[in-house]
Amino acid sequence: MTETPVQHADRGDAPHFVATDVTYLKDRIVNVVFVGPAQAGDRQWALVDAGLPGSADRIKRAAAAQFGEGSRPAAIILTHGHFDHVGALHTLVRDWDVPVYAHEMELPYLTGRSAYPPPDPLVGGGANSLLSFMFPKGPIDLGDRVHALPADGSVPAMPGWRWLFTPGHAPGHVSLVRDADRTVIAGDAFVTTKQESMIASLTQRPEIHGPPMYFTPDWGDARLSVRQLADYAPSAAITGHGPPMRGMRLQQELRYLSSHFDERARPAHGRYRDRPAIMDLNGVVDVPPPQVSGRTVALTGITIGVAVGLAFALRRRERGTARADMGLGVGGLGGGDVEGVNHALGIDLASADGGYDASSRPVGTSTGDFDSAQGMSSVASPSPS
Ligand SMILES: [Zn+2]
Ligand SMILES: [Zn+2]
Repeated sequence: MTETPVQHADRGDAPHFVATDVTYLKDRIVNVVFVGPAQAGDRQWALVDAGLPGSADRIKRAAAAQFGEGSRPAAIILTHGHFDHVGALHTLVRDWDVPVYAHEMELPYLTGRSAYPPPDPLVGGGANSLLSFMFPKGPIDLGDRVHALPADGSVPAMPGWRWLFTPGHAPGHVSLVRDADRTVIAGDAFVTTKQESMIASLTQRPEIHGPPMYFTPDWGDARLSVRQLADYAPSAAITGHGPPMRGMRLQQELRYLSSHFDERARPAHGRYRDRPAIMDLNGVVDVPPPQVSGRTVALTGITIGVAVGLAFALRRRERGTARADMGLGVGGLGGGDVEGVNHALGIDLASADGGYDASSRPVGTSTGDFDSAQGMSSVASPSPS
């Protein structure tokens, strides 16, 4: 059995195959997963995670293509509540009138009670890491629309599946597994691209990595979760970021990551490296102090300088350039990828929006930000290797 990374067409709205009855849509830098037979019909399938802000229409189109026009899911399951996995949630819950399920340890961040621990922009080394201080930490508030996953391990609307508690990257992170064929939906417990690097997260070369470093506040738990998933020996896995992987290579790389976790996944330094954030059913209780050093100050200065420079470049671009598809010929990045750059960088939009779906904002407030993606291409293109 060999692994074959599934090709994805970023501009297409048709979901791509992972395993029997499991497909996914890559929304710029993050995946959403559909579970259910093709053309299953209304309330006969489930959505896992809900992408970045602004993705609701695309997710709905993909769902219509996969399950039939107008068909709604029976449930939305969240692997965890980070902003890039709940972006379209408010719009989808409203339009689909659908319940949401997450682990009870994740509920404080989905019901307005607590923000996540602050990210650590100084670990991982990539642009996504450095810019993570701008990423929304939540919480969003779904009110009584969100429920705890059943304690018996079953997954609503996903018969044959069960959830595994895989915390570390988030306090209530879960992975979904189907024992019949050992398919795994792993969220960010591990990922199949180097998510800290903006270029890698856009080019999506398949390789297994630990959870995104900048957003992982408990490395001890993260390590145990990777071991649990490696021991499960998945036959196919789709993670929150990166292409699906299958077969021996998946199992071998996962086992290797598990047995070399501290060298390969745990950051060499950083706020949470040796001391986790403490969280309970009400949210964050305690976080380690930020590490302030000469290096920190220098990196922060560089980051702010880069962000300010990019903001200026964007504005110039917005003023002077008509909309053109710069995705073609930009270091091999597709147009959707360039949008991803914008999203990774233009996150102030999501932040201002509280992480909600920007598509529900009035015309004229959000579209300019999304369309300004073209302005980023000249920045992103120099080193796509
Ligand atoms: Zn995450
Ligand atoms: Zn993620």
